[in-house]
Amino acid sequence: MSFQEKYPRPYYSKYQQVEMDCGSDWFRVYRLPGNVFAITEPKHCQEVNSYLIIGSQRALLWDTGEGFSDITEIAQKLYSGELIAANSHSHFDHIGCNYRFDYVLAYDDLQARYTAERGAPHGLFADQLSPEMFIGGYPEGLDPEAFFVPPYRIRTVHNGEQIDLGDRLLEVIHTPGHSPDSMMLLDQSNGILFTGDTFYQAALYAHFDCPEFGRSDLNDYLKSMERIQSRSQEIKALYCSHNELIAAPGKIGEAAAAIRSILSEKARDGLAVDIQHVYLEDGTAIVEYPFHEFSIVCRDTL
Ligand SMILES: [Zn+2]
Repeated sequence: MSFQEKYPRPYYSKYQQVEMDCGSDWFRVYRLPGNVFAITEPKHCQEVNSYLIIGSQRALLWDTGEGFSDITEIAQKLYSGELIAANSHSHFDHIGCNYRFDYVLAYDDLQARYTAERGAPHGLFADQLSPEMFIGGYPEGLDPEAFFVPPYRIRTVHNGEQIDLGDRLLEVIHTPGHSPDSMMLLDQSNGILFTGDTFYQAALYAHFDCPEFGRSDLNDYLKSMERIQSRSQEIKALYCSHNELIAAPGKIGEAAAAIRSILSEKARDGLAVDIQHVYLEDGTAIVEYPFHEFSIVCRDTL
């Protein structure tokens, strides 16, 4: 079934939509528990979710979207005070409006610096900008022939660092695996874990190996999930960066077990596998292992 046929996804009806009087109707905004707004882009195949986390002193925008429309306009309508931004990682679909900020908080990693210096050039988008990747046509102002993400400035953060929003602290947790610069934010007072692309309920990508995306690493991915799992007492909900907005915290343990079974040669033989006709530049095949409500995509040679 194509992405277009799945629109609108039924899970959106669970959430309270906020009607926005904004120039662009590209984004859909939902009010979530814990004084957080989800700013979603359901009309592009990536189905990216960015989050506006409101504090008493300032608000933090967790990722700046695809950049097809100006997310800062909508964020400033939702919160008129000081607005800072942070990236879950530097893949092109989460950094689109980074250049609109003086700086964006990013994990201290070469991958984050590489992308900040270059942005995301037009060529990187390839078929992501073709008409069938959009529902209802292109958003106003988007030129699919010329679109690119400009370079931007970052301020690096480190594991264990706390981002202070006033009445809430967000702890940085480095979670490499999907990409080397992936991080999560843990809002301890509300028990919300912002997972970025490291966990959501769709295909989890652990197959990348190129300068623009960095190298995914399944062993690192497992260690990251286990580190999060060891703190499960502190986590009530996962707020995810693609597709369904909220997932149950138990999913972290499921994902860790799934990765463990892929890494174990013995267990891997019993897993269902879909060998896609997709190959990396070096000829490595990519395989997809389906699990309950998510799958893991990785290189065929582990
Ligand atoms: Zn990503």
